[in-house]
Amino acid sequence: MTQKLLGAPVAEAMLADLTRRVAALKEKGVTPKLAVIRIGEKPGDMAYERSVLRDCENLACAAESVVLPEELTQEALIARIQALNADETVHGCLLLRPLPKHMDAALVCDALAPGKDLDGMGRGALGALFAGRKDAFAPCTAQACMELLRHYGIEPAGKRAAVVGRSLVIGRPVAQLLLQADATVTLCHSRTPDIAAVCREADILIAAAGQAGLVDERFTRAGQVVLDVGVNRVDGKLCGDVRYEAIDGVAAAASPVPGGVGKVTPAVLMAHLVEAAERA
Ligand code: NAP
Repeated sequence: MTQKLLGAPVAEAMLADLTRRVAALKEKGVTPKLAVIRIGEKPGDMAYERSVLRDCENLACAAESVVLPEELTQEALIARIQALNADETVHGCLLLRPLPKHMDAALVCDALAPGKDLDGMGRGALGALFAGRKDAFAPCTAQACMELLRHYGIEPAGKRAAVVGRSLVIGRPVAQLLLQADATVTLCHSRTPDIAAVCREADILIAAAGQAGLVDERFTRAGQVVLDVGVNRVDGKLCGDVRYEAIDGVAAAASPVPGGVGKVTPAVLMAHLVEAAERA
């Protein structure tokens, strides 16, 4: 029987802890404050923004929406980010992506001060992460994978881990976090030969390729823990990178989509905000 690694209990436990920490900060006169930077009126961005603002409100944190026009220049956006970096009342920033096509996204993300870059987008935060600094803010979804493992008592130390996907949003940072947790990590991508065999060797398999149903029974074996990070739509239905039915009953534990890693990511963003406020 494969244990279902649900995200909701993980998020609930994290939020209970954060509620206590926010109360302690308030006693010192500090209210954690997030700035959400949105460019344009894309419905997906606006929905995400609303859910983040709601999360802040539920945790009694402050939030500010910084809404900027689509035709904004890159220089003007960077100047706005720099102003938020300098604003002592703002503890963290979340820049909604993708950015408009006329901007160099990497350059804009690099403008975020590492201590306020709560979703680990810029080279300051990523550089700190890859240098092994404990105070680095990793991208929230990468951190969410680690929180899931921790909550369910799955210890990466001494284990073999395989990560499918090497983006800076999830694949590479989660590989780094697993490495920091003393796993032996193999990072797979679209040019990895016999990827199923490589993944089958792993004790912990993280699927983050954005390919619906890529991971099936050929990738898994008894005792393996599988985290599915993929978010795909097939015939309008949300699904992950793992064909859950194919590994169910074989793997020891697996996170579903929906209801797995994606449930933990928003709690990690809040955890990073509270941590940033505690540091300040
Ligand atoms: P991405 O930038 O498109 O990167 C995908 C990675 O997967 C690339 O490294 C690519 O390899 C690799 N890949 C693609 N097809 C492959 C295949 N058939 N075999 C092996 N490797 C393959 O995507 P991303 O931003 O990392 O996101 C990955 C998935 O995670 C998406 O479904 C996304 O929606 C999801 N996601 C979820 C959350 C959440 O909160 N749950 C947050 C962020 C992302 P190459 O480098 O060789 O091209």
